[in-house]
Amino acid sequence: MGKGHRPAPSTEELAAFAESRRVLPGRRPDLGAVDPAGTPGYDGNKASAKRELKQLRDELFTFQTTMWAERKHSMLIVLQAMDAGGKDGTIRKVFSAFSLQGARVTGFGVPTEEELAHDFLWRIHPHAPGHGRVAIFNRSHYEDVLVVRVANLAPESVWRPRYDLINDWEHSLAAAGTTVLKFMLHVSRDEQRKRLQKRIDEPEKQWKFSAGDLDVRTQWDDYMDAYADALGNCSTDEAPWYLIPADHKWYRNLAVARIVASAARRMDPQLPALEPDLVGTKVPA
Ligand code: ADP
Repeated sequence: MGKGHRPAPSTEELAAFAESRRVLPGRRPDLGAVDPAGTPGYDGNKASAKRELKQLRDELFTFQTTMWAERKHSMLIVLQAMDAGGKDGTIRKVFSAFSLQGARVTGFGVPTEEELAHDFLWRIHPHAPGHGRVAIFNRSHYEDVLVVRVANLAPESVWRPRYDLINDWEHSLAAAGTTVLKFMLHVSRDEQRKRLQKRIDEPEKQWKFSAGDLDVRTQWDDYMDAYADALGNCSTDEAPWYLIPADHKWYRNLAVARIVASAARRMDPQLPALEPDLVGTKVPA
């Protein structure tokens, strides 16, 4: 074994890691007690994390293409974070491992007039993954209990019942064979400041900056409250939330990849059985 080389983590190690990041059902997490700059459950360094991520990416590719061939199971991955929390980076560095055949990212921005004229899940449901597919949500139905609550876009009588409605909806996805994994990428206020500053200062990043991000930043504590309630109310056995310290991008990527790989190993999709009649057949000239 070469210097610094580590074998891919065992199924037990991956499962233990995932479990350590899972928000237990009914337990409102104390976000203030989770250090966004921490690297819990990982004792390696950035270089070893990058090597492991490479291995896990290969594994995720094989998982997803096998699931696509099998067309039995599906996976929904929900990404939520404060602005500049690393949703786009996670998609780029982790989920680009998937083949475009059967995997899709959907971003949810400010609802249109037509969307607002319906129940809040109406615009979300068509993007749930069908058999064989992986769907990645960049923001999600959780905005309807986050921004809607903090920015007072609807009264409490509207957003409060949504926790149960979300649980029911995710339950119905799980009952249909969808593995649901939800990630909160937890950045610190100071790390967000640095990343937003970069967006302002670097010409190639400025398109990502919006003045509204600064208003949202002033409501940081209200958002943390809303996140804690969303995670506490909606982490279920069938659709768990995972809390990922995200100031270190390398740790964030590794943590998300490990948790998805752990779920993938549990799902264990199989290629369709070989056709006995085809074995040994030669393609005619
Ligand atoms: P991002 O900021 O993730 O790159 P966009 O700029 O397209 O993506 O849109 C995100 C914005 O849409 C955020 O400010 C978010 O709070 C808002 N948004 C998303 N869902 C809703 C919702 N259901 N109600 C109100 N605003 C929402």
